[in-house]
Amino acid sequence: MVAEQPRIKADLHVHTISSGHGYSTVREICSQASERGLEMIAVADHGPAMPGGPHLYHFTNMVVMPRVLFGVKILRSAECNIIDTEGNLDIPDRALDALDLVQAGIHPRCGYSGDSTLENTRAVLGAIESGKVDILVHPGNPLYPLDYGTVVRSAASNGVLIEINNASLTVVRKGSADNCRAIAREVKAAEARLSVGSDAHDASLVGVFDQALELIDDIGVPDERIVNRDAVSVLQFLHSRGKDIRF
Ligand SMILES: [Zn+2]
Ligand SMILES: [Zn+2]
Repeated sequence: MVAEQPRIKADLHVHTISSGHGYSTVREICSQASERGLEMIAVADHGPAMPGGPHLYHFTNMVVMPRVLFGVKILRSAECNIIDTEGNLDIPDRALDALDLVQAGIHPRCGYSGDSTLENTRAVLGAIESGKVDILVHPGNPLYPLDYGTVVRSAASNGVLIEINNASLTVVRKGSADNCRAIAREVKAAEARLSVGSDAHDASLVGVFDQALELIDDIGVPDERIVNRDAVSVLQFLHSRGKDIRF
C-alpha cells in the first residue's frame, strides 16, 4: 500500500546499523520509506571518528548496494565529522569520491576541540569552502555556537545546503530550537537553500519532518528552497555540484 504523497519526498539524513548506534538495516529503512511514499533516501552513516562508527571500507564499498529498493532511490552518503578548526573531515578525499552526497557537521567525542563561536565558525566555513561538502548538518547544535549569518551567507554563495534537522527539535541536541529559528531567518534573508533531515537512527523515523517543517513555515521559507522536496530536485542539485547520478 502506498501512502498519499508526502510534502517532502526525499530523506537525505538516515542512519543504519553501520553507524554503531543506529537500529535498522537499509532494507528496513527503504521498506518504511516506501510505505510513507518517499521517492529517495540517502544512507548517511557517521564518519569513522564517531565511536563505534564504520571503517572507511563501509563508504568505498557502497557501490555494492542496490540503487533502488522497494521503489525507493538510494543515495550513497556519509555524515562526516569536522575534526578541526580548519574544517577538515574524518573521511579522506579518495573515499569521498565514492559518494553521491557529502554531509558534515561537528559532533562531540569525534576529535574536534574548538571551544568558541569564533573557532566553530572558522571550522564550519572551512568545510563549506572546501568544495567537498554538500550539506551542513544540524548547525543549530547549542554545543557548538556559530555566527549564523556568516555561515548561511557562505553556504549560499558556495551552493551548500543548510540542514534543518528534525531530531534536533525532538529527541537530541536539546536547546537547538531557538538557534534553528535564527538559522532559518538567515536562510530566508540570504536566499540560501535547505535540506530537511529526519536524522532517523531507526526506520520508524524515516521521513518524519513535522517539527522542522513547522519551524520553516513559521519563519516563512518557501518550499522551493527545500532541495529535498523531491528526487528530481535533489538530482538537479547534485548535478550542480558536479555529480551525475543515474538510477
Ligand atoms: Zn549528526
Ligand atoms: Zn545524523
